[in-house]
Amino acid sequence: MPATPAWPPKSLPRLFMRQALTQDARVELDAGQANYLGNVMRLGVGAELLLFDGESGEWLARISEAAKKRMTLTVERRTRPAEAVPDVWLAFAPVKRAQTDWLVEKATELGAARLVPTITGRTIAERVKLERLQGIAIEAAEQCGRTRLPEIAEPITLKQLLDSRGADRRLYFADENGGEPVATALKPGPALILVGPEGGFTSDERELVRNSDNAVATSLGPRILRAETAALATLAAWMSLAGDWR
Ligand code: SAM
Repeated sequence: MPATPAWPPKSLPRLFMRQALTQDARVELDAGQANYLGNVMRLGVGAELLLFDGESGEWLARISEAAKKRMTLTVERRTRPAEAVPDVWLAFAPVKRAQTDWLVEKATELGAARLVPTITGRTIAERVKLERLQGIAIEAAEQCGRTRLPEIAEPITLKQLLDSRGADRRLYFADENGGEPVATALKPGPALILVGPEGGFTSDERELVRNSDNAVATSLGPRILRAETAALATLAAWMSLAGDWR
């Protein structure tokens, strides 16, 4: 099933629900969601909206009860099955908070399956707050029409990343020192895109990654990109050459 959202986009609000959705289910909204629908979107009893739970696709629901800080929805019918998410992971060295937030939002829109904060020798970052990043991914998924959320992994070291990826997952290592142009390097199949921190990889790390099985050093051209730009540029190129933009 293609991940392409229906066009033109529906103007119905879309919300992610933590509870599993089924036909005729009643869904109690939390105070934040009720406030958003009632006070921000100005929706009342009878209004329609779209829901997804990350597993069962997308559902049309209707507001069946509304009070000041409470709202109940009734699920009416499924509008789309769950999409097939292209099998691409993005491993990035966390950068400053605003840039990491931006990276997570955009990588969700671009369709990454899994985001892996990766600690390298030169990583300078405040503590990675997974719950905050999950919230950003949820908002991006609500907005862009995804029916599945990207998984946001616990931070791991570069060595743990290399050891855990599985040999059939091709590693595309964005190397500012040069590599194969992405236009020829990126191929269909399970992929892991790895981008370094603002200070780049150390020479030991570069050697470790370059010598790892099924790893390809890739070049993004003659300019040095910021880490988050390099990550999203590689992800967009992969979607275009090997993912679901083809
Ligand atoms: N401090 C490094 C330097 O001055 O050479 C630059 C690091 S860059 C800001 C952060 C990361 O983005 C790099 O580790 C690399 O993964 C990626 N990157 C940036 N520009 C790139 C390019 N032209 N080709 C491939 N990767 C690039």
